Formats: sequence, structure tokens, C-alpha cells
Amino acid sequence: MANATSCTGFLLTSPFSPFVRLPIKLKPFTENDIDIEITHCGVCNTDCTTLLSAKTYPLCVGHEIIGRAIKVGSKVKGVKYWDRVGVGPIVSSCGLCSVCLSGEENYCEKVIATYDDVYPDGTETTGGFASHVRVHQNFVFLLPSNLDPTNVAPMLCGGLSVFSPMRRHKVSKGTKIGIIGLAGLGHLAILFARALGAEGAYFLSPANSSLFFITACRKRQRCTKGKTFSIFGASVFICTHNIDWSDRWVRRLDIILNTSNIGSLFPEPYLRLLKPHGTYITLGFPENGLPTIASVDLIHSGISIEGSRSGSRRDMVSMLKLAAKAKLKSWVDEVEISEEGCRTAIERVRNGEARYRVVLVGHVKAFNKPPGEDRHLL
Ligand SMILES: [Zn+2]
Ligand SMILES: [Zn+2]
Repeated sequence: MANATSCTGFLLTSPFSPFVRLPIKLKPFTENDIDIEITHCGVCNTDCTTLLSAKTYPLCVGHEIIGRAIKVGSKVKGVKYWDRVGVGPIVSSCGLCSVCLSGEENYCEKVIATYDDVYPDGTETTGGFASHVRVHQNFVFLLPSNLDPTNVAPMLCGGLSVFSPMRRHKVSKGTKIGIIGLAGLGHLAILFARALGAEGAYFLSPANSSLFFITACRKRQRCTKGKTFSIFGASVFICTHNIDWSDRWVRRLDIILNTSNIGSLFPEPYLRLLKPHGTYITLGFPENGLPTIASVDLIHSGISIEGSRSGSRRDMVSMLKLAAKAKLKSWVDEVEISEEGCRTAIERVRNGEARYRVVLVGHVKAFNKPPGEDRHLL
């Protein structure tokens, strides 16, 4: 039940416990804060991994949060009561360092994550598997009215993670970009690359694709995954099944975006696809890290390898604007939030069964207070 200092969520009490409904302590309200009644929350791979390895429990995950602003501090600008707003994976940064001042607060040393982190006053941050969240205005985003909240939820982390490096590298008409991995991030990457006008959003099939996938690729007309990538707008499909698959594509791409968590998708065959001064950007977290790379692979082709963490406020605003203009729609499975719903959603993402992202919905119903009480007041 929500009150001035707490709300309710579905939390894990230990890495392998079931989800249980528990009260959540909120940080003290300041005049820069916005209280949000949550209506949707996308489920991200980071949720799955953090649930098993959090710093502290009980833990409430979820950092693709959408809801209504129900309490707005007096110093908040640009958001008013009942506006539909979103929150991504970051809820604070120092705001003072050179990184923050340059508009890249997502790389601030003192950045605070939306959940499994701690505010300076000791209050733990908590995510969107809950009735409410309280966030500083700098990390709350007004959603364009023509975007469906279910479709936009996965953009708040997944979309931002792929859009930020594209914006940094000025992906536009004529850019040739390769995208590895067709899961949550991969399908968003193809959508945004196309919306930015990239000449060909190439799709590279992961080296460890299932046997079905590789077999099906030999008979392209029966390859359902191949059909899917073209539905999203990728123009070329490169199958990595044959040993000499990369020969045809040498020095063709400006950027490769690796959205998968597979560390082996890093060796020379992929790097040789890049043009001189091209960049290989890694977004995933391979369990065993990245393989050793020979200096010669970088030096002889003058290429770079880059990491990218989430995105800044500028990236988020720019991404939402583009999504609204291009009327982008991510592909999502909806799951009603509950103890069982949270478990189902996490398992679906963990097992790679989502097509292509899962969004928890029905928060207001699940957390509604008994009739007669004002659920809009924390
Ligand atoms: Zn995420
Ligand atoms: Zn900073």
C-alpha cells in the first residue's frame, strides 16, 4: 500500500527465492522529485542477471518504467500531474563532474542505478516491479503522446543502449551498420538504424545459432529468423555458417553493434568486416569476458573496439523524438504483473523465449488499494 514513505512491489528475498509482495521504502521526497504510479515495466536481461547476483536483498528490479506522474515537486519543469512519463536504468549522477557537465552523465563515476544501488542518504533504489517509484526530474522523461506505452517500455533501456552509440557515431543515411544478435536489443537496433536512415542494417547471425537456424538458412525461404530480420527492416542477411562467410563482406561496414552476450563473437572474421577506422561496439556481457585480440587485427585495419553504457538524457530525448516521428514499434509480449507473472516474465527473457521483449502490465490493478482510498496519493 502506498503512503508518503513507501510503496509495494514484487521482490526477491534471495537469489533463488520466489517473488513476494513486500513494502518498499522510498527516498524522502524533494521538490525536484516526481512520484510515478507505474503502469508498465519492460523486462531486461540485466534484471535476470541482477536477480541472481544483487548486492542486497530484498530486491525489486525493472528499469524500463512507464507510469503517470502523480506528485510533482515545485522545482520540476516540463512534467505536470498525470503526464505519462518514463524512467530508464539511471536515477542519479553527481551533476558536477566534467563528464556530467558534458552531457554524458551515464558515464559519471557516481552514477546511481535505478535498482540495486544506494542514494547518498542510504536509501536503496528500487525498480519497476512495483506500484510506484520516486525519481529526480533529471531522470524522468515525458513520453510522446503517439507512442503506445507497451511498445515504448523496451526502448527505455534496450532502445537507449543501441541508440546512444548510433547517435555518437552519427549513424545516418549511407551508414553501413552490422548488427549481431536478434533478441531484445538486436531487434531494436535494426528498427533505430532504419529510422536513422542507415543504408543497410545488416544482420549477422550468431556463430552458435541453433542447428535449426543454420539448416534453415540453406533454404532461405524456410528460415523464419531470416524472415523476421527482414520484417524489422534489415536489408542484408549474412549467415556465418560457412567457414569463409566473411570473405564477401571484407571492409564493407562502418560500425558493428554486438548486442549478444556471446564472447566468441569477437574474433577476426567479424573485425575484418569493418572499413578502416570502423568501430566494433560491444553491448553484451559475455560470462567469460572477451577473448584475447591480436594487436595486428586492430593496427592493420585501423579499427577501434568500444563499449557503450546505456545512454544520456540527451540520447533518451533524441531517441523518443525519433521513435515518435518514425512511429516505431518494438515487438513485445505482455505479462500481467503478479508473483507468478514476474516469475514467468523473467524466465521467458532468461530462456530467450521473448519475441522480442517482455513487458509487465496491470500494475494499477495488482497494487490497487481498497475502494475508498485515494490511490493517487503517496
Ligand atoms: Zn536494461
Ligand atoms: Zn558526474
